[in-house]
Amino acid sequence: MLRVALPNKGRLAEATRDLFADAGLEVRGRGERALTASLGGEFEALFVRAQDVTEFVADGVADAGVTGWDLVAESDRPVDPLLDLEFGYCRLVVAAREDSGIHAVADLRPGPEAPHRVATSFPRITRRFFSDAGRAVDVVPVSGAAEVAPHLGIADIVVDLTSTGSTLKVNGLREVATILDSSARLITATGRDAGNLGVAAPLDELVAALASVLRARGQRYLMANVPRNALDRVKQILPGLNGPTVTDILNGGDLVAVHAVVPAASVYRTIAALKALQATGVLVTRIERLMP
Ligand code: AMP
Repeated sequence: MLRVALPNKGRLAEATRDLFADAGLEVRGRGERALTASLGGEFEALFVRAQDVTEFVADGVADAGVTGWDLVAESDRPVDPLLDLEFGYCRLVVAAREDSGIHAVADLRPGPEAPHRVATSFPRITRRFFSDAGRAVDVVPVSGAAEVAPHLGIADIVVDLTSTGSTLKVNGLREVATILDSSARLITATGRDAGNLGVAAPLDELVAALASVLRARGQRYLMANVPRNALDRVKQILPGLNGPTVTDILNGGDLVAVHAVVPAASVYRTIAALKALQATGVLVTRIERLMP
């Protein structure tokens, strides 16, 4: 059995469940409060808070886990990232009141006399950051909603997570520096001997399955019928993985069918370019998995 610690609720829970389901590892038969559930085959999920995933993985209770890189960094436990899961994007930033006149870390008083007070739920990262920046600050640990601390007079600076920056703005705060860029990661304990524990094969399988889904998410499969005499120009538009597949159409006249894998982000441009070459029957589909 390969046991994977997954976030049971919060921002990362749903995207994690969706990713695993897309990889064929759907949560099966989980009761309302059940801590564990089968993911099919030799995979089992252990549902815990995102904040606790690193601990369970570092302790060896789980073979692997999914959580935010910010939480991994704050935990200071010996785990390694196996895969960036490409969701849960956010940044850990230093923010100050808009009316504070602080625009950069260099604007902060150096301390230790009259040190700035910094509210954060990331005390370890925060201490390290300000110490490296040569600023002696008082760190005020809070368990969440650090952005209200300046209004309550608890602190004049905050270190908090943001993705759009809007919560900071609404609270009259200005970003002063980025400490860390984060996203959800698949992690495993440093130095864990998966081979000896008999989980090397399923762990490799898990990484390959998730990676193939992530790769496929950014691509589309495109099919179109194009005039044979336009093929050279079509090949420039459709590089595909190894160039487009070209096939004859029964009774297709001077039309041939082309198939190619194309980046999802530019698929509209690709269609317009093919249309300009008199392409017909353009079909675009999602790809479930892609293993180059
Ligand atoms: P949770 O507290 O369980 O909702 O999970 C919080 C985790 O979601 C954080 O540790 C980050 O890894 C991630 N996250 C992504 N975007 C944001 C955001 N804008 N604010 C807070 N956390 C975020």
